[in-house]
Amino acid sequence: MKCPYCQKEMEKGFIQCRDGVHWTPKKQLVAALSEFGKDSVSLENGVGNNRAVYAYKCGECQKVIIDYAK
Ligand SMILES: [Zn+2]
Repeated sequence: MKCPYCQKEMEKGFIQCRDGVHWTPKKQLVAALSEFGKDSVSLENGVGNNRAVYAYKCGECQKVIIDYAK
């Protein structure tokens, strides 16, 4: 994946969380329960379970991108 900021190739890696990786519009009181937060989105993207997701890093721009398309 090319970095959308500088167009250089991004490094593929992982972001992991024991309780699953979720995006929520509001910060949850208990991180472990974030999947139950209002409008929670699982970022599962093909690793096999949502406790780890692929993520692309640009060290130049210090950005990380998670594509959560299945
Ligand atoms: Zn970049």
